[in-house]
Amino acid sequence: MAGDKPNVVFVLGGPGAGKGTQCAKIVDAFGYQHLSAGDLLREERSKPGSEFGELIESHITNGTIVPVEITCSLLERAMITSEAVNFLIDGFPRNQDNLEGWNKTMKDKVNVKFVLFFNCDEETCVKRCLSRGAAGSGRSDDNEESLKKRCNTYVKATMPIIQHFKEKDMVKEIDAGRTPDLVFNEVKEYFA
Ligand code: UDP
Ligand code: MG
Repeated sequence: MAGDKPNVVFVLGGPGAGKGTQCAKIVDAFGYQHLSAGDLLREERSKPGSEFGELIESHITNGTIVPVEITCSLLERAMITSEAVNFLIDGFPRNQDNLEGWNKTMKDKVNVKFVLFFNCDEETCVKRCLSRGAAGSGRSDDNEESLKKRCNTYVKATMPIIQHFKEKDMVKEIDAGRTPDLVFNEVKEYFA
């Protein structure tokens, strides 16, 4: 992590809204470092002997949310060990517990610039995740049963967090139901 406070952009949206796809494009075009909270949790889960492996796996398959202490410490460690100054934090904060935990331990250490919100209807999101699963994503949660739970968590727990940031005028909302290139055309305006 560079000397000055790092810049953070939160990236939110339903499962399958295209957060990971668009983050990869932002990394290529603007040199941000991409930190996917879900990827960090999956990596931690898969470490041999991980203390939290089973807990993380049960939250992932149930579409529920891992306690913030675990997620936040993974995010902080990834930032501390990076040379980057600009970070995309993808898929976090997803609920009130995430937001409070972040505010307690990280808020003063970074500048949160804005929140990118990929807005996509549930039917499209579910279709994308199912075809990702069928194409061999290997994710234990790209199946119909987990997806119902993930969508439910998104509506009940994450949408209120997006609303919270909207009230602070921090949200850049993008229609994410289009092709990746069309979506990125709009996304890049916020980084240029
Ligand atoms: N997850 C979590 N806390 C986070 C991010 C992810 O608990 O901050 C868990 C949660 O169970 C979620 C799963 O990881 O359903 C997959 O998250 P990911 O962001 O990879 O899914 P996406 O929204 O990209 O489809
Ligand atoms: Mg993702």
